[in-house]
Amino acid sequence: MNKKYILDTHMHTTSCGHGYSTIKELAIEAAERKLELICITEHSGLVPRAFFKDIMDVPNQLYGVEILKGAEVDIISSSGDVSLADKYLESLHVIIASFHRSLIDPKSKSENTQTLLNVIKKHGKQINILGHLDDLRFEIDYDLICKTAKENNIAIELNDSSLNPNKGRLTSFENILELLNTAKKHNCYISIGSDAHNAWKVGSFENAIKLIEASKYPEELILNTDINKFKNFLAK
Ligand SMILES: [Zn+2]
Ligand SMILES: [Zn+2]
Repeated sequence: MNKKYILDTHMHTTSCGHGYSTIKELAIEAAERKLELICITEHSGLVPRAFFKDIMDVPNQLYGVEILKGAEVDIISSSGDVSLADKYLESLHVIIASFHRSLIDPKSKSENTQTLLNVIKKHGKQINILGHLDDLRFEIDYDLICKTAKENNIAIELNDSSLNPNKGRLTSFENILELLNTAKKHNCYISIGSDAHNAWKVGSFENAIKLIEASKYPEELILNTDINKFKNFLAK
């Protein structure tokens, strides 16, 4: 475990139906791996709506690890709608917005890009992170999206699971490096997320670390190195 990266911004629990661990198990593993903070970012399209109300009753600290309550919301229409009501987009601590094929069909590069621009236009104040933009099944214009993300104080995710063949994403080390280099050109913040669907993956950043080294990403723009930097970013 690289001690430099002390928080993990993206993970799932048993509640979504394809996670294998509870919040408690994720927190225990995070503590063992010396993480200081984790974000529980359940798939908004896969859990009952009440989940995002009741998750607020989960303690803010478990086993010495701070717990932020969030969601990974699905982009569900080309006009920029996402799969979570405004009241939860505003009450949760961290919001990741992602394309998932189960809820929207991939289109051409220019159409996917326009969809994402519409999401930012409609929900830019509520969204903190754009999730796994490296998936070439949803090809987008990296330059335009990184520029717009920066203008709206939205981070670009470096998703450690994207290179896991089980995820089924269409990507490569070179493609993710291109995304990172474009984000760097626009001075975008990046957030490293394990996208763990089981406790053993929490804080696993092996792929992400190789990519950060290859891109020489500036440390001040990596949100995972400091809790206050991350919280200040979320407070936009
Ligand atoms: Zn996702
Ligand atoms: Zn995810």
